[in-house]
Amino acid sequence: MIIILKPSATEEQIDTLKAEMTGRRLIIQEITGETTRMIGLAGDTSMLSPEMVTRHEFVERVMKVSEPYKLASRRFHPQDTVIEFPGGQKVGGGNLAVIAGPCSVESEEQIISIAKEVKLSGATFLRGGAFKPRSSPYSFQGLGLDGLNLLKIAREKTGLPIVTEIMSQEHCEVFANDVDVIQIGARNMQNFPLLREVGGLGRPVLLKRGSSSTIDEMLQAADYILAGGKSAVILCERGIRTFETATRNTLDISAVPVLKKRSHLPVVVDPSHGTGHWDLVFPMAMAAVAAGADGIMIEVHNHPEKALCDGQQSVTPFLFDRMMNRIKKLRGVMCE
Ligand code: PEP
Ligand code: MN
Repeated sequence: MIIILKPSATEEQIDTLKAEMTGRRLIIQEITGETTRMIGLAGDTSMLSPEMVTRHEFVERVMKVSEPYKLASRRFHPQDTVIEFPGGQKVGGGNLAVIAGPCSVESEEQIISIAKEVKLSGATFLRGGAFKPRSSPYSFQGLGLDGLNLLKIAREKTGLPIVTEIMSQEHCEVFANDVDVIQIGARNMQNFPLLREVGGLGRPVLLKRGSSSTIDEMLQAADYILAGGKSAVILCERGIRTFETATRNTLDISAVPVLKKRSHLPVVVDPSHGTGHWDLVFPMAMAAVAAGADGIMIEVHNHPEKALCDGQQSVTPFLFDRMMNRIKKLRGVMCE
């Protein structure tokens, strides 16, 4: 529900209204429109009839929000959310974030050499999995906390903020202390207890779309995190499962403008998992940028043929550099 206030509403009246709504255990979000002041309410509003709100003479009218997600909705936050990092990186609002690095952290030498190379080519964040959600229990599961420590060394050497996936609530504290962007993988997009907990950590969260999830479900998952009140969310389209087998997933490029229309949250595209083939990563990264994505996430490996995970979809630092040159040119044309 969105409450539209009369211009004459006083701070005192607004505070009383907010206290009433908090008493109903609703989450309040102040919305500053161009000319009007509004209050968005998220939570169970089924017991709150519009008449109960409009009886306050300082309330202009009430609007029901039909979408199942609220805090992620553009109605609740008309301006783009822009997440700023201490190093000056910005995600959202027309800035292009480039998150690059290997699928998994494998060794100190590997992560540091890749981090240095991707930074030289223009990456703004370093990715690398320490805890890996592998479909098979017999596949490489990641280096765990040792991998996280190697990411921290790579951050120290390059200044790149680190993006890495959390798989379990037991690691929330360590991730809150050590990780710049906490990734929720596709397989955990609807792990609601995990979503709730990361929402209280106060670190930006990169939420990947579940491989069989609709856009509505993804935005509701974002609401779970936002309801924690502390963590910003970056949405990530990484392909969905369809009948097509030529690619690992079907990368839903149209999700970019749909998400941008419905939500104020930044949208990043992962063409590596979206296609599953290194030679398809460049064209789909270009397509994502052309469609208006706020960022791309690319798997880069110095020896893809020896990678412990996802080598077939990883580009070399050399190819990544070529891709970045073309992307910079495309951005130049788009900004003309
Ligand atoms: C990843 O980014 O390493 C990953 C496992 O991706 P997804 O959750 O999209 O499969
Ligand atoms: Mn991967």
